[in-house]
Amino acid sequence: MSISFSKMDTMMRCAKKYYYKYVEKLVPVTDSAALYFGTLVHGICEIAFKYHKKHGKFPELQYLRAASASLLPEYPAEEDIDLVVDALALVERYLASFLWDGDQFTVLAVEEEFTYGNLKGTPDLVIRLTDGRILVIDHKTTSATVDGGETTMRLQGLLYTYLVKNHYATENVSFYFYYLRKKQPAKPTINKSGANKGNVGRLANIDTTYEILNEFVKQHGLQDREDVRHRLGELRDQDRFFWLQRLPQDEYTEAFLLARVREYTAELREKRYFPMSIVDDNGYKSCDKCPYIVLCESELYGYDTAIALEEFKEEE
Ligand code: SF4
Repeated sequence: MSISFSKMDTMMRCAKKYYYKYVEKLVPVTDSAALYFGTLVHGICEIAFKYHKKHGKFPELQYLRAASASLLPEYPAEEDIDLVVDALALVERYLASFLWDGDQFTVLAVEEEFTYGNLKGTPDLVIRLTDGRILVIDHKTTSATVDGGETTMRLQGLLYTYLVKNHYATENVSFYFYYLRKKQPAKPTINKSGANKGNVGRLANIDTTYEILNEFVKQHGLQDREDVRHRLGELRDQDRFFWLQRLPQDEYTEAFLLARVREYTAELREKRYFPMSIVDDNGYKSCDKCPYIVLCESELYGYDTAIALEEFKEEE
């Protein structure tokens, strides 16, 4: 039996959800807009990096826009088109700021499955820098700035690193989450008084990029303002819209990973009973965010599940 990160992750969240997804193979007929947006961003990134793998550079925006049309349903609604336009805008900004300044890289794999023994995983992207380092990258679309570090995310990173290390027979592999923030950078404005006293607080905390604020500062001769200089320094040190978070890794964590994988493989092989793990908060792991909640509640309250099942189809 082979085991992927998605299976382990689902199992860790809720055995019942695992049952619906991997045993019954049920998929919701409609996805939520947030899920759909994340899928679109992933799809457009996949197109861009596959092009880079073949041609050694990112495609022209026109190519990316035309190719992204393939991600739309056959008869798209207006909202579908709006979501693709927003996702394209986000990916275009992301590609323009990809990696650190001046880094050259070769794309090794885009959404390709790596296997080793009974483990398998499909990282979003694997690249090699000119100094030989291999970076495994997983894209995460996010609404806010995050500090990360969840156990399941660490497990995902460790699993992918392990697979890529074995595939390329090198230890020189690091794993990064690349966060793509959905929000657009704020545009600085100046108020009518011209001296922008009313803007002091706003510029001191403005949620934008270093480049945008720096341009604004030069245009309006604000270089001497202490609060603005301070904010520029902060924005230069940390990109608030696209940022990489490296996963710490060492022998201890790898041993931990393998132990967890053995545990889950054994558990999944033996599995006969799939209890619900009802999570009643507002986090993204809560039952409120689970696509199977309609079905799960029908079972829980003893309703006729045939009605709930109409919202799902069997995966081919
Ligand atoms: S609704 Fe909650 S208990 Fe039911 S499958 Fe989803 S996560 Fe599990």
